Amino acid sequence: MSPHSREEAPPHRTPRWIVLGWVAVLTVVAWHHIPQAQANHTHTGSNQLHIATIHGNNGTSTSPGDQDEQYCVQSRTASIDGTRMANFIEETLAKLSTIWDGTASWRVDLWRTSKFCADYDSATRATIEYEYHIKDDWYEVSLCGGYYSCVVFDNGVYDGYHTHYKWGYSYLQTEHVSGYDTRARKFINHETGHILGLKDPDYNGHCMNSVMHNDLYSSMGCTDPVWYPTASDKSSVTRIADRTNTW
Ligand SMILES: [Zn+2]
Ligand SMILES: [Zn+2]
Repeated sequence: MSPHSREEAPPHRTPRWIVLGWVAVLTVVAWHHIPQAQANHTHTGSNQLHIATIHGNNGTSTSPGDQDEQYCVQSRTASIDGTRMANFIEETLAKLSTIWDGTASWRVDLWRTSKFCADYDSATRATIEYEYHIKDDWYEVSLCGGYYSCVVFDNGVYDGYHTHYKWGYSYLQTEHVSGYDTRARKFINHETGHILGLKDPDYNGHCMNSVMHNDLYSSMGCTDPVWYPTASDKSSVTRIADRTNTW
């Protein structure tokens, strides 16, 4: 049994997706498998929750290739200006000093699209690797509900090594990001870590200097306020990109 099976949504509630994700923050998880102590960890095995393009890098300095990661942003609430949020997300991912962009020797190469997600026709949108959506609640996404931000993957493909996913969706609660502050960046970086294949803490006290194991998990005893991807986070993503992740 994988640690994610508990999170599969009832099919009748989300029939269009194979729902593969997990509650993003503040969840209390009791899991009997204890990974390597104090090590950041990833989805492993034959089904790995990460974006399929993470293993390659084939763009240029001015345009993305099909192994790069394009993302669009979509506000679905009147309280979030889409352009302001897209600018904030782009800054968080790619313009500050400690960022996800460039991780794993640029196999993580994040490109903001010029338009909002809903402004693309379906064929073009299908070429965009992942999306950030912001809404006041996510009851329509069972993994998120009314309180959590979460990540959902869709369109699994097998690459000869494992199944991974062509599309990822980061569903952000308005309240988590509306401050345009360090806390908002913490949520954006955490959910992006899920897009790239990282996991939440598996058990109480599974804490470290990691944007995946920080004080968003105070309920599990974690107190580190770090809001950006750390060296541990980046090395874990590199192991995924290298296909050497076994924990
Ligand atoms: Zn999470
Ligand atoms: Zn993969």
